[in-house]
Amino acid sequence: MEQDRSSQSRPPHVLVFPLPLQGHINSMIKLAELLAIAGFKLTFLNSHHNHERLVKFNNIAAHSERYPGFQFKTITDGLPLNHPRSGSWFLDMFEDTMELKMKESLREVLVNSSPPVDCIIGDGFLGFALDVAKELGIPIIFFRTSSPCCFWVYHSIPDIIQAGELPINGSEDMDRLITTVPGMETYLRCRDLPTFCRKLDIEDSSMKLVVKQTRKSLQADALILNTAEELDGPILSQIRTKCPRVYAVGPLHAQLNTRLNAKHGESYDHFSNTLWEVDKSCIFWLNKQPNRSVIYVSFGSITSTSREQLVELWYGLLNSKTKFLLVVRPNSVIGKDGEGEDVVMELMEKSKDRGYIVNWAPQEAVLNHPAIGGFFTHNGWNSTLESIVAGVPMICWPQFADQHVNSRVVSEVWKIGLDMKDVCDSKIVEKMVNDVMVDRKEEFAKSASEMAKVTNQCVNVGGSSYSNLDCLIEDIRIMSLKTHKK
Ligand code: UDP
Repeated sequence: MEQDRSSQSRPPHVLVFPLPLQGHINSMIKLAELLAIAGFKLTFLNSHHNHERLVKFNNIAAHSERYPGFQFKTITDGLPLNHPRSGSWFLDMFEDTMELKMKESLREVLVNSSPPVDCIIGDGFLGFALDVAKELGIPIIFFRTSSPCCFWVYHSIPDIIQAGELPINGSEDMDRLITTVPGMETYLRCRDLPTFCRKLDIEDSSMKLVVKQTRKSLQADALILNTAEELDGPILSQIRTKCPRVYAVGPLHAQLNTRLNAKHGESYDHFSNTLWEVDKSCIFWLNKQPNRSVIYVSFGSITSTSREQLVELWYGLLNSKTKFLLVVRPNSVIGKDGEGEDVVMELMEKSKDRGYIVNWAPQEAVLNHPAIGGFFTHNGWNSTLESIVAGVPMICWPQFADQHVNSRVVSEVWKIGLDMKDVCDSKIVEKMVNDVMVDRKEEFAKSASEMAKVTNQCVNVGGSSYSNLDCLIEDIRIMSLKTHKK
């Protein structure tokens, strides 16, 4: 269909297309809002399934009321609506089922869009969006929502294999240094690589898929990363050797808060984008706790724990000298015949004096609450950034994807936490919680608050991420003027 690109006066129309997962939606919807503040027309393309949940648990209509040019559109994620979408569903289903159907639907949305889309901001894991963009002649920028360090490791996997540093031999020392990832030669060990690198098979399908998507991200017109020059400068320089136009505009949640506060004042209501029902009662519980006395424990939106792991964690927390706020997502504990849910009920009952358990927390508010002194986290990239911005030291218990490398950077490069990678033992949990919350409390509080200060400056007027976002906005305007002329 011939598209009308004649009007040069209208604002750029950007289509933002995230991977259908909570962490990806969170950061991409924040970027979309930042572009809406700049006056752009926005289409946020969500999966039917996730959009239903967004509508159920948030005031989604408010987006369009606040930004008249902001619309949600939905497409299939390729799975039936009643598919549980839990466990390792994503990588298992991606290439065979999801990719084809999403690609077709994306094409249809773009072809029928009015006004035409001037620029796509696609999730960097959805490489097929590049093919559709090229076919329709629309500029595309990829947004990789995971950490730049991990992006760089994923990109380097073929080189690591070629140098003979992978596969990892089953019986070898996991602390062996990996020397073939430029910029990380001094701290990246075998155990810090994504977990699929632990397989003996270098033809592993998950590994191949991730490498393929990562290398494809670099073929876009530009790359957006949710970080700041001051956080990831050395790795950003490495990535720029492969893709010169990289916009480091993060932490996006902090950048959005800065710009909204500047425009509307502190008391302005910020949108939530949650896919679960938020239990705000934990804030009332936190209000009753002394400053920096509580450790917040949450492992994000995808990770599951076994019943045994949860019990180890819980005993470690209970035996430590600290109170805790623990998030246990519905259906996230793996046990036989409902055992997982039973154990949560039992722990709740036994924890009454020492802890508080919720299904899903208002995480940003929790991390910024004065009662919080530490974050026991899986190191998903959003959680890591939210902790950095709030100045909260971390105990890291990574599970998969970018989390293993993130926890290494948190503990070894930034020194704002401890890494509990590959272990789940109540004694170690107890020791680490006591270290971060009691015995080495001042040391960690100091390094985390210094890091927070530097990071928060990046998103203020004149800061690197603030300026980079201004450049991105300007570059999209220029791009769209060119597409209008076609
Ligand atoms: N989150 C939340 N409440 C919770 C747990 C998580 O709001 O109880 C949010 C958290 O603030 C973060 C996102 O869910 O923005 C999780 O993203 P992350 O990248 O940390 O991990 P993932 O879920 O992708 O593994």
